[in-house]
Amino acid sequence: MIRFEHVTKRYPDGTVAVDDLSFEVGEGELVTLVGPSGCGKTTTMMMVNRLIEPTSGRIHVDGEDISTVDPVRLRRRIGYVIQQVGLFPHRTILDNTATVPALIGWKRSKARARAAELLDLVGLDPQTYGSRYPQQLSGGQRQRVGVARALAADPPVLLMDEPFGAVDPVVREQLQDEFLKMQARVRKTVLLVTHDIEEAVRLGDRIAVYGQGRIEQFDTPGAVLGTP
Ligand code: ADP
Ligand code: ADP
Repeated sequence: MIRFEHVTKRYPDGTVAVDDLSFEVGEGELVTLVGPSGCGKTTTMMMVNRLIEPTSGRIHVDGEDISTVDPVRLRRRIGYVIQQVGLFPHRTILDNTATVPALIGWKRSKARARAAELLDLVGLDPQTYGSRYPQQLSGGQRQRVGVARALAADPPVLLMDEPFGAVDPVVREQLQDEFLKMQARVRKTVLLVTHDIEEAVRLGDRIAVYGQGRIEQFDTPGAVLGTP
């Protein structure tokens, strides 16, 4: 579903963030990218939706070389969740979640029905929370809305950059559990960036362990931990 072939990213100041990276992620597979700050995880992820262009190499999504795909069209097929999701403060949770369906021209009633379904999927009762505003939700609840919104157009691919990084450890575990349950139902192809090896092990079908600009190990959690 996602394939990197000899991908290198050199920033204009000469920093080589990603160095000759090749790997594949299967359809419905959840791969966690783990490693210390500055090793190239975010750069890798942002090349998948063309927010960053590689200096050399090729990236395929769903069999297509993405350098030939219009970035706007590409991003419709790729949900994106970041650490501090930006919700529209003056729109309700339901309307925030329905933003993308509305943008791509769904009828209002259909967009809102889809949004309610998604809020339910991420564990937020739409009756209770749909009519609230972002500032009336906890940080963890806002992250759930971010996940729901990223899924709104039903993209096959989901990119998540430290999605549970900004909440306290108890809430983080809860969100991880809910996310795993959800993933078991929707089976998206997911790249999830984290600096937390425990999170990487807990969530990943496979783990890409980064060193400086390179993947040093790409294997199942058991293999990475050295247990059978
Ligand atoms: P590009 O040409 O890929 O857009 P730029 O060098 O123009 O990259 O920088 C894009 C953004 O990244 C800018 O906002 C810049 O401040 C920020 N940035 C620059 N250097 C670094 C760095 N070493 N680490 C993180 N962010 C950086
Ligand atoms: P990570 O997500 O693992 O923390 P990044 O992909 O953000 O790593 O960064 C990888 C390397 O590229 C770091 O050395 C970072 O400082 C550098 N970097 C990131 N963005 C920019 C930029 N826009 N311009 C120059 N260097 C950058």
